[in-house]
Amino acid sequence: MKTVLGEFILLVIIVTLAATALSLWFFKPYGQTVLMPAVGFTVAIAVASALPYLAYLAFRVSSLYADNDGLMRAAMTDRLTGVLNRQGFDRRFRGHLRLLAQSDKGLMLLIVDADHFKRINDRLGHPVGDVALKRIAGTLKKLTRASDAVGRLGGEEFVISLPCSNAEQGEMVAERLRAAINRLYVGSGTNGAQLSVSIGGVFMRSPQPFERVYEAADANLYKAKEAGRNRCTITAITAHGQGRLRGFDEQAALAAR
Ligand code: GH3
Ligand code: MG
Ligand code: MG
Repeated sequence: MKTVLGEFILLVIIVTLAATALSLWFFKPYGQTVLMPAVGFTVAIAVASALPYLAYLAFRVSSLYADNDGLMRAAMTDRLTGVLNRQGFDRRFRGHLRLLAQSDKGLMLLIVDADHFKRINDRLGHPVGDVALKRIAGTLKKLTRASDAVGRLGGEEFVISLPCSNAEQGEMVAERLRAAINRLYVGSGTNGAQLSVSIGGVFMRSPQPFERVYEAADANLYKAKEAGRNRCTITAITAHGQGRLRGFDEQAALAAR
């Protein structure tokens, strides 16, 4: 906006100077009494006519900015569920990594994968599967803060980046999400299914590349699936390696029963 305004003011100055020069040349033969008011009038008209143009330009530019914001949001959003898509999530995650580098807080990355989702599709149909994905996404959004990032990486897999003071705080959020999704039911009457998700998570105190964190969280997700699903497996990751967080996965498994 500032650039456009600067360019516009420069244009007004150039047009005013050109009009003044033209007016001087045109009215010179009529003598001083005509020349001065004529040049003054020309300058006043050139400057005054810039005002409605400026108002129009400001209106058009601000509506273009609004359109651009809408397009940006659409380009970063998953169409089915309304959460961030991969591109949108990457952007927010990079922001969280920058904050992590500047603070003494931590960051939790959670991969949330719907359990036996293929069975739900096969038994209840793809449209009901879509409803299930929307309800899972809605629950993830509802139970996290606006400053957290919730994305869908594809299929029935979601990802959450959660700035938190310590690992325990992040673990509590993961467990709350798992339990809330386990209360969801899709379909009708007896022809429905209770939903559940498995969560693989990684807590870090210093910025790590997404690929590395994702790989570690995915390995934890695999463990949660292997251990029976509908549970969270979370470990800590440092620049040097991974460590377990006080057997949190066992606690979650007990809670899941
Ligand atoms: P697991 O518990 O091991 O994760 O088993 P799963 O059945 O959830 O995993 P699998 O990878 O075998 O199947 C994922 C299914 O998710 C298969 C695919 O049809 C379904 N799926 C992926 N994207 C969508 C979607 O946008 N809508 C619907 N309804 N289903 C989807
Ligand atoms: Mg799955
Ligand atoms: Mg999956």
